[in-house]
Amino acid sequence: MAKCKQCGKVLPKVWRTDICLECSRANVQKIFKENPEVKQAYQESIEEMSKPENIEKVANSFSRFMDAVMKLRGK
Ligand SMILES: [Zn+2]
Repeated sequence: MAKCKQCGKVLPKVWRTDICLECSRANVQKIFKENPEVKQAYQESIEEMSKPENIEKVANSFSRFMDAVMKLRGK
């Protein structure tokens, strides 16, 4: 049975990651706190998502966000 790698909580069978929702959320909050520029990119992408005409811009902001997260994870 899969368990969260961070807190050891048993994960639902359909879960595709090795971390539970609470822990991944906490991790994102931590990333935001330590890296304000990531939060900025994330918030921009959320804001822009509400405007359909900005889909390309959203994709760019979001990939910037994902890049930043991947870089942090690669440390
Ligand atoms: Zn967890």
